[in-house]
Amino acid sequence: MRIERVHGRELLDSRATPTVECEIDLDNGRRVRAIVPSGMSTGSHEARELRDGDRRFLGKGVQKAVKNINTVIAKKIEGKDPRNQGELDAILFKLDGTEDKSNLGSNAILAVSIAFAKAGALAEKKEIFEYIANLEKKPNFNMPVPFANIINGGLHAGTGLKIQEFMIAPTHAKSFSQASRIIVEIYHSLKGSLKKKFGSSAVNVGDEGGFAPPLNTTASALELIQKAIDELGYSKETRIAMDAAASEFYLNGRYVVDGKAFVDGELVDYYMDLIKNFKLVSIEDPFGEDEWESFSELNKKIGSKIQIVGDDLTVTNTKRLKKAIELECGNCLLLKVNQIGSLSESFVACNFAYKHGWNVMVSHRSGETEDPFIADLAVALNCKQIKLGAPARGERTAKYNQLLRIEDRLDGKAKYAWVK
Ligand code: PEP
Ligand code: MG
Repeated sequence: MRIERVHGRELLDSRATPTVECEIDLDNGRRVRAIVPSGMSTGSHEARELRDGDRRFLGKGVQKAVKNINTVIAKKIEGKDPRNQGELDAILFKLDGTEDKSNLGSNAILAVSIAFAKAGALAEKKEIFEYIANLEKKPNFNMPVPFANIINGGLHAGTGLKIQEFMIAPTHAKSFSQASRIIVEIYHSLKGSLKKKFGSSAVNVGDEGGFAPPLNTTASALELIQKAIDELGYSKETRIAMDAAASEFYLNGRYVVDGKAFVDGELVDYYMDLIKNFKLVSIEDPFGEDEWESFSELNKKIGSKIQIVGDDLTVTNTKRLKKAIELECGNCLLLKVNQIGSLSESFVACNFAYKHGWNVMVSHRSGETEDPFIADLAVALNCKQIKLGAPARGERTAKYNQLLRIEDRLDGKAKYAWVK
């Protein structure tokens, strides 16, 4: 099986921002497509998207990245067997020649890298999750616990909430489909209580489909979520989690949250109170992206009981992950393929995390697309958890729906169990 044609084009993501699609035609007449997502609260150590910076789309166009796919990349890739993911990705790295992929653009490289995996699956007549699991020698399938962001704050909403994501995770549901049902019921129940309390405008949603109510304190958002969980009788199955995305409210050594300024040690105490009062199961990016010691301090205090997740800290980059592991900064890697810009490197980061006893949570970005690829990826890498936003808006439900399809297809063969 050979790649006959590689073609890039400029499409749109869920935030009305241009993004890159790669289409691969195989010599058996079949075709695959992959579209890349894009973040808002991006870590400064992420691989570099290439944006045009001209008048089109207020500088956000991706015609240069698309051109790179259609010229230099297509020339080197056409005629190759798509099943050699590692070798093909290595060709892209060599063509780019930079550490942060700023030459060809991480958006161009990732679109092609994901399209290889989809083309490989097609060539092997396998589902994408089965194909990648085979590549990565992961014979067991687990359905991931969904972490659903039902109140949006930070840069994803225009409210007084500094914490970016307030999530529910049905860690003790029996299956992914039951977990989805629990999330949907809590989402609707929360919607009803927000409407009653603050009026209709409180149920407008943020970038990831979660509500953006007029709240100013972290505890007030957590209380409303806890109430919705309790009223529906789901407190046994469901826990609460947060992504602070704290780099976004960190300035000159101070974190400004809930209208107050905290220094590092004070913020540790702030989180310890929230963890205790709301039985939080997971906290992501509780400190700024280079505040290794603060991560370490919180992890030493509570890491044996809850999950401490590195996102902007680790950026799916094995070098930064290694440092985080050495300094004991947490116990879970957030895996976002566009942070590093290729599948091969994402696989390396995932396996490195597992090797050192860390969990891995596959994650969407706030700027998403209808491509459900990360759903397959989470099952393939046996991650046991996935962060996918609210169960609303097409670019989010695309991932829920693909996981529902996968669970149905595996017909009881995949376990669903929380691991922390
Ligand atoms: C996150 O911070 O985990 C996230 C999904 O947001 P973004 O894509 O804006 O980085
Ligand atoms: Mg994050």
